[in-house]
Amino acid sequence: KEKYAYEPVFLQAVQEVLQSLQPVLDKNKKYEQYKILERMVEPERSIAFRVEWVDDKGEVQVNRGYRVQYNSAIGPYKGGLRLHPSVNLGILKFLGFEQVFKNSLTGLAIGGGKGGSDFDPKGKSEMEVMRFCQAFMTELYRYIGATIDVPAGDIGVGGREVGFLFGQYKRLTKSYEGVLTGKNLLFGGSLARTEATGYGAVYFAQSMLEDHKEDLAGKICVVSGAGNVATYCCEKLLQIGAKPVTVSDSRGMIHDPDGIRLDMLKQVKEVERASLTRYAELVSSAKYTPVSDYPQGRNAVWSVPCFAAFPCATQNELNLADAETLLGNGCQCVAEGANMPSTLDAVHAFLKAGIAYGPAKAANAGGVATSQLEMAQNASMQSWSFETVDNKLKQIMTNIYKNAAATAVEFGQPGNLVMGANIAGFRKVADAMLAQGIC
Ligand code: NDP
Repeated sequence: KEKYAYEPVFLQAVQEVLQSLQPVLDKNKKYEQYKILERMVEPERSIAFRVEWVDDKGEVQVNRGYRVQYNSAIGPYKGGLRLHPSVNLGILKFLGFEQVFKNSLTGLAIGGGKGGSDFDPKGKSEMEVMRFCQAFMTELYRYIGATIDVPAGDIGVGGREVGFLFGQYKRLTKSYEGVLTGKNLLFGGSLARTEATGYGAVYFAQSMLEDHKEDLAGKICVVSGAGNVATYCCEKLLQIGAKPVTVSDSRGMIHDPDGIRLDMLKQVKEVERASLTRYAELVSSAKYTPVSDYPQGRNAVWSVPCFAAFPCATQNELNLADAETLLGNGCQCVAEGANMPSTLDAVHAFLKAGIAYGPAKAANAGGVATSQLEMAQNASMQSWSFETVDNKLKQIMTNIYKNAAATAVEFGQPGNLVMGANIAGFRKVADAMLAQGIC
């Protein structure tokens, strides 16, 4: 623990998993004998590199780039690239560690990895973003490949950035292969990949609620974030007749009691790439609250009374006080679209209350699962219809829920999807590591 004190979010992610694994370690002594846990918490390799590029003023800029290749026991490394000023090795290790379990839970043959840079895309011109992406790939291309390591998007990396990265990979390698997912439909992208994480979180919530004899139709929902995951979470909620009433970004939140206007959200975030203040200008029923007016140490999104909450922005955006407020207001369901959005004590509060709580590595696995479907289409040179991919996504989310729920029952804690997801994800990777031996 002391060794990683400077990587607090990594420690938090590991702690959350280790807390629930004891029963499975007791059941199979081989895991301890062959030090599976000690091996699993260490990435197979962490690559750090310099990214140098030239801005619009002709000045040289230097950023730090990373790729953490965490675990390849069950398939090639797979996981997104994050571009955000907060990025450091500890954050990418937390994300990579989570990714190993998540990818295992999908039931697909994908190992875990994560990467990114402390480059801040905000305020950069399109040409600057392009030059950065090209410089980043000029180093990263050495370590990735369609059957080695297949990155995708994450915070700050959407279709535009994936396109720039793919173009540079192709130039450097002369190879037209499915080395990235989340690509444009013109060059190997999959229909429904853009929507997959947000849609998947809603499908997961529906599966949980079915077992609680509830559903989302007609219910008020709160959503945080206003990026890829949040937008398509809102879209699916609207499609099934639920009412998302909030979205947020790093500067503030929108509360619209009439329901979020998806066309306006897409206009502001996908077309204009503007702040949510712009949304409030366009939609008269919407109220904008800046972060400076949030209650002390809290996220104002979680103070809006709701039936279900979908944290879709970033890690640790929902703390114990937020969880208690949600529960106090009668919230019955939390499905995590973001990675580790709830602090450990908030997670414990949800579990104690017995609500339908879907932890990130299960509830947001739809994105990576659909990325694997993109890899399958690329490998077989096919393009499936939106309905085909969406149906597969739905099936995968149902299976993840059933697997996590059944594992929780098997280990004596029905309804505890944290334990169920962690053990189910762990077992497959651990057994593959045992079978592959030690070198
Ligand atoms: P985007 O960059 O598209 O959107 C991120 C959103 O979260 C933006 O609205 C951003 O606001 C907001 N945000 C980011 N950091 C903060 C912060 N510190 N405080 C408040 N708001 C913040 O990213 P995605 O939607 O792709 O990712 C969101 C989450 O979902 C992340 O945790 C990611 O790891 C996870 N995830 C994403 C998947 C995907 O397929 N994209 C798959 C699985 C998980 P602003 O623009 O102002 O910074």
